[in-house]
Amino acid sequence: VRRRVLTTDQIVEGVLGGNRTILSRAITLVESRNAKHFDQAQAVLAQLMPHTGGSQRIGITGVPGVGKSTFIEAFGKNLTKAGKKVAVLAVDPTSARTGGSILGDKTRMNELSIDPNAYIRPSPSSGYLGGVNRMTRETILLCEAAGFDVVLVETVGAGQSETMVAQMTDFFLVLMLPGAGDELQGIKKGVLEIADLIAVNKADADPAKAREAKREYSSALRILQPTSKHWRPQSVMVSSLINDGLDTIWDLINQHRVVMDKEGEFSAKRARQQRDWMWSMLRDRLLETFTKRDDVADRLKTLEAGVLSGTTNPTAAVEEMLGLIKKAEK
Ligand code: GDP
Repeated sequence: VRRRVLTTDQIVEGVLGGNRTILSRAITLVESRNAKHFDQAQAVLAQLMPHTGGSQRIGITGVPGVGKSTFIEAFGKNLTKAGKKVAVLAVDPTSARTGGSILGDKTRMNELSIDPNAYIRPSPSSGYLGGVNRMTRETILLCEAAGFDVVLVETVGAGQSETMVAQMTDFFLVLMLPGAGDELQGIKKGVLEIADLIAVNKADADPAKAREAKREYSSALRILQPTSKHWRPQSVMVSSLINDGLDTIWDLINQHRVVMDKEGEFSAKRARQQRDWMWSMLRDRLLETFTKRDDVADRLKTLEAGVLSGTTNPTAAVEEMLGLIKKAEK
């Protein structure tokens, strides 16, 4: 069956009315590589903009197997039971390469995926960080316009995508496995630096080990610069499998929000995120537009090969490229 083409107004109305089928189609538009779709997606977003910003944006990360989907299933159910509408998005820039996408398999969240107050969207398979970044940010906005109160953005524990998710959310939760002693060695300091809260999961399996891990993370967090001068990240023990401690996490997220609001940090952070987002998008788009230009693409390849083999000096290569920009401006 060929799907009827929707007008921009129909999409806007559908999203605002909370129509999930139309929300999905709007997200597909945002994720499309087609230039016409891109233009329509931007037109839709421009109209929806006044209806965005109202959700609690929560980033969640952790290594594969830590229990992210188990956590989101239980946490999300708690929220929908409390009357919240919950959207779950995934960020996995590696999925294009590995073939497997987190959340691609909805059966990982059996109950949440059929909950009428939850919406689960797998990771866009764009493959490159800049693309996934834009798509995820725009998808958050679409979900907000569709009336979702909480947006959970899940990412795999892999360097850059964690930073990216932290930069588009209000609160960043890091799930860890018990067994800190050896664990802490392998943990990149970077992820502790951006965490607003660390939750040691699977506490039911080995409470003693989990307690030890919680202690170790707490002391590691104490020596780091906090994410805000009004919030000191802490670590807690939870068990997603038996829904133990997840209410504490929700309480902490709300405490964080109250403090951030009171100190004026919430709106300042959102504003800063918008500014950084503008610059990162501008950098991406400029670079993309420039490197795709006919007179640039081939020459760039030659220069790159020259730099690789040592026959071209990187500075000279950049100077030549800048010269091409100037030439186009004349
Ligand atoms: P993900 O790869 O981070 O999404 O991890 P999953 O949610 O798929 O969980 C990996 C495995 O850990 C599954 O077998 C889960 O049942 C198990 N698991 C998750 N949370 C808990 C927990 O709190 N306690 C125990 N004992 N097992 C858990």
